[in-house]
Amino acid sequence: MPDSNEQHSRRMARKKAVVDAAIAKADGDKGLLLILTGNGKGKSSSAFGMVARSLGYGYKIGIAQFLKSRRDTGEELFLGNQPGVAWHVLGDGFTWDTQNKQADIASAVRGWAVAQTMLTDASLHLVVLDELTYLLNYGYLDEAQVCRDLAARPATQHVVITGRAAPQCLLEMADTVSEIADIKHAFRDGIRAQPGIDL
Ligand code: ATP
Ligand code: MG
Repeated sequence: MPDSNEQHSRRMARKKAVVDAAIAKADGDKGLLLILTGNGKGKSSSAFGMVARSLGYGYKIGIAQFLKSRRDTGEELFLGNQPGVAWHVLGDGFTWDTQNKQADIASAVRGWAVAQTMLTDASLHLVVLDELTYLLNYGYLDEAQVCRDLAARPATQHVVITGRAAPQCLLEMADTVSEIADIKHAFRDGIRAQPGIDL
């Protein structure tokens, strides 16, 4: 049987007291490391959502897109033109496109040097390392080095890392980890990537 109005009000008041107490207790600030991983759609677009939020406050942002060579995505066309955004496309394409391991490693190492510059720039409120996990999983970058560089970044700088199968060392050092599950994807019904939604 549904709650009476009175029962509902009492229950909501109790819930509000618990939520308010939890919010009051969480009064710290820090530069966060966030990992968006899993096989479902929504990792990079969530990261770009945080870029949009940060821009709303006028913050400076650095974005590194690894493993990506196309420059015509909606996010780059819009966010890449915003003042305060430094946009770096660091990939030469997916590894199954380039089919040249040495070239992929060289490109990964060059890309990480750009990331290192951002991770030492305290003026950047947020750094997005999009699709970084693949470079670690293929062994193109040294995981320990990446973790050291992340740990040594300015204390107030937020970093968002996206990509499937995030390695354990990143999960352990992260403050916030979300795993997006693949329940369904239109691609499997023969639908191509849709502008504004997928790219
Ligand atoms: P998005 O950029 O849309 O947030 P993502 O970052 O979670 O996606 P990626 O693995 O980077 O996922 O893939 C990028 C592209 O592949 C997007 O066009 C996305 O729609 C598509 N995609 C993501 N997940 C899947 C999936 N499970 N099956 C098929 N296509 C997918
Ligand atoms: Mg992505």
